Amino acid sequence: MSIFCIGRNYVEHAKELGNEVPTSPVIFMKPTGALLPQGSEFEIPAFTQDLHFEGELVLRVSKFGKNIKAADVLSYCDAITVGIDFTARDVQNGLKQKGLPWEKAKAFDGSAVLGTWQLLTEKMLQAPIHFELHKNGQAVQKGDSSLMIFTMPVILESITEYFSIHPGDMIYTGTPVGVGPTAKGDHFEGFLEGTSVFTLKVKP
Ligand code: ZN
Repeated sequence: MSIFCIGRNYVEHAKELGNEVPTSPVIFMKPTGALLPQGSEFEIPAFTQDLHFEGELVLRVSKFGKNIKAADVLSYCDAITVGIDFTARDVQNGLKQKGLPWEKAKAFDGSAVLGTWQLLTEKMLQAPIHFELHKNGQAVQKGDSSLMIFTMPVILESITEYFSIHPGDMIYTGTPVGVGPTAKGDHFEGFLEGTSVFTLKVKP
């Protein structure tokens, strides 16, 4: 199973981190071990002093494919949810400064949180999809798929230009503005179109 992730897919988020707005999707990956088992507590790794949450829409791949056209996304993806791409921002900044890969900052064990899958429909893809991440009962990120720089169909086309996809693969589609720090004891909840799709406790 592959976990594909897109970076810098919302203009306001790229700006908040001082990054350029990309001209093609920024793709990175997490290993299978990055997926936090559902219902588990998340433990902040000892190697970071600045762990950020990034709430994101996540697509599930349903069929093998390569070189897929954007218009065919529904033949290859059948479900959507909200997840968190946890990021050790201090580690990432150090790696970025040296031009090194991001894996230590973004692909560590437990860094991929996933909600309950919801059926992906044509109607959803045509309308803006709204999602929210709440921290300790407050909305910290409000996402809207219509603000994506690269739409989900375009992301799929771009990923499969380089990589084949297989059933069960996941695509984290990037985070909107509002990322921020995570502390011991925090409580997160993810919402897709107003429906709660996960709750997550950070180990005290
Ligand atoms: Zn992300």
